This record gives sequence, structure tokens and C-alpha cells, in this order.
Amino acid sequence: MKLSNRIQSITGDGSDGWDILYRSRDMIDAGIPVLELTIGEHDNRTDPTIIEEMYKSAKAGNTGYAAVPGSQVLREAIAARVQLQTGVPTSANNVIVTTGGQAALFAAHLALLDQGDTGLFMDPYYATYPGGIRSIGSHGVPVPTHSDHNFQPQRADLEPLAKTAKCLLINSPNNPTGVIYSRETLQMICDVCRENDVTLVSDEVYDTQVWSGEHISPRSLPNMSDNCFVIGSMSKSHAMTGWRVGWIIGPEHAIERILDLSTINTYGVPGFIQDAATFALTNGSALETEVANVFRNRLKLAENILEGENHVRLIPAQGAMYLMLDIRATGLSGDDFATELLDQEHIAVMPGESFGASAAGHIRVAMTIPDDQFTKALTRLIAFAKSKVS
Ligand code: PLP
Repeated sequence: MKLSNRIQSITGDGSDGWDILYRSRDMIDAGIPVLELTIGEHDNRTDPTIIEEMYKSAKAGNTGYAAVPGSQVLREAIAARVQLQTGVPTSANNVIVTTGGQAALFAAHLALLDQGDTGLFMDPYYATYPGGIRSIGSHGVPVPTHSDHNFQPQRADLEPLAKTAKCLLINSPNNPTGVIYSRETLQMICDVCRENDVTLVSDEVYDTQVWSGEHISPRSLPNMSDNCFVIGSMSKSHAMTGWRVGWIIGPEHAIERILDLSTINTYGVPGFIQDAATFALTNGSALETEVANVFRNRLKLAENILEGENHVRLIPAQGAMYLMLDIRATGLSGDDFATELLDQEHIAVMPGESFGASAAGHIRVAMTIPDDQFTKALTRLIAFAKSKVS
């Protein structure tokens, strides 16, 4: 079978960055215990009340084709939530429900980019960004950000690239850096977008995981709501990664077009899943807080353990479930550090390089294992880093 260039382009040429994860899984299968701090998956499962709601809905017969854009109640619940958070008038017509934030990212880019167009994204980036843009025949171009600026994007890096781009994808709170973009940073990004006729895609799937500062949706900044898509998801906020419920918020005319894509692609999200998501979203914020607090507490543990360490520098973690550690003082690349840490200490972390060139010499630590193991892993990681310089 001769496959299209497009599908073959998704992974690109280099490593997909997940080698460490695959190797650690092989070690676990071989009976070697590994402390795994790799993927962004909660160690706690979905709350039983949400599962109960799904069961009730399915038992009541909601197992047929569901409304393709999402059920009216779910779209209204999402719109109400977004309006409450941002103050921007938002109705169900501004919302389309998708199979997770992942499908929302794909649909948003398909709506904005033609073959050969350029889509920008901030580097370091969530690992699927470049492949997602390549898969639609467009050029994905990383915009560098810098550890020395705590990965807050700078105009000097963005402006020249914006001149030839059609859209820009940003993510705050950020995976992999844990950084939240400040109001000034976001205003600069919006200014550059408007000056260069670039549409902004704002991936806000970590919007409930804010440890310091404030999360600002750029859609709420002046004159942005017509030139911006916001990507949201139940995955991180409600520990519902496997349920595949996400959404796009955007101008009505754009949402109508994206509906055409859902019609020929997924034909919607299962109705009983949507009912469970509606329940979760309309049931107050206690659950979201409970899910987020696990990481908030682990960050405090990490800050205590890492305080005063100079072999391993914590990039100030303001949000999301990750720590970005600058390990350049050890003289190792992120790849080598992660490989040796796995081989020698049986601790799996992600090399910064797998999130782009800007995170070289860093590692990403997911705060996704129980507190006692997390503490043990970080303590051993620091000792390992020190052993590399002494
Ligand atoms: N965006 C970012 C930055 C992510 O980290 C993830 C998942 O890890 C996603 C989007 C996709 O999330 P989902 O498809 O589970 O909603």
C-alpha cells in the first residue's frame, strides 16, 4: 500500500521524544520497578459520581448518535463556564464539543491553515503540536522562548516569524514548562497577531491548574474574541483523560464550519459521555479544586526539596502538572540526563529536547505519582545531578 506523504509526515524525522517512556515501560514489564514521572496523567481516577452519571445516561437509552456539535446542555454549560471565567459574552453557538482537546487542536488548525501555509507554535511545546500542523500539509514553525526569561515569549522572537504566518498556537498554563503567561506577555502576543493578521489559537486545557499569578484567556483581551480560538478539555480539570471530551470556543461562523469537519470525521462525542461531562461541569467547582490540589500540594513538596539547589534549577512553576528543571549545570543534555537517570536510578523523566530545542538542557518532571514516591524520586534525582558534577 502506498501511503500519503501527509500521513508519513506526522512523526517527522527525529525521535518522537517518548523513547524514555517506552524503555521505562519495558523495564516495568521485565519486573524492574521504575518511578515514572513522564506523562500528564493523574494518578487519581475520575470521580465515581461522574462515572455513575454516565451509567445512568446510558441505561436510560442515550446510546444512539448524539448531536454532532455537542448536546445543547453541554454547550451551554461550557459557554457559561467560559463566560464566567473571562467575562466575554459566550453562547452555545460559540462552542463545539470534540473528542478531547487533541481533536479540537486538529480541527482549529484545519480551519485556519491551507496546504503550504505556516502555523507557529511556542517552543518548548506540547509534543503533538508540530505533527498536528504537518498532518494538514502546512508548515509548523517553532517560536523560541528562553529559559533565562522563564520561557515567557518575547516580541523579538515572535515578530519576525509572524510576518509569514497565518496562525499562532500558544498554551498557558504551559506544558511542559509550568509557566503562565503574564498579562503583558499575552497583550504583546495579541498585538503582534493583530498587526500581522495572524489568528491566535489558545490551548487552555490546564486552566484550572493555577498555582500562582492568574490565568488570563487572551480571548478576553480587547478585540480578540473574533480572532481567536480557545481549546478546552475535561481531561486535566476533572481527571477525565480517557473520556475524550474537549471543545473549541470561537466565532459562530467558524464553529459552524468546524461542525462540517466533525460531521465527516467523528460524528460527535457519545451522548452518555456528554451527559457525564455536563454533570461534572454543572456540579460546582469543588471537584476541579480537589483534582488540582493534588498537584498544588506536590509542587509545595518539590519547592521545599529543590530550594537552594543549584545543580538543578526549578523554573518557577505557576501552573499545570509539571516541573521544568534546568540541569545545564550538570553538563549533560536533557536526553543524556534522562537516559542515565533511568538506567542508574530507575527514574523516568522526559528530556527537555523532546519538547523542542528551547528546552535543551532541561528535563520535565510530571507530578503524577503519589507524594511519598514523588518525594523519593526528586531526592534521588538531585543526588544523581550532584554526582555528575562532583
Ligand atoms: N494540550 C496540551 C498542552 C496537553 O498537554 C494535552 C494533553 O496532555 C492536550 C492538549 C490534549 O488533551 P486532551 O486531548 O486529553 O484533551
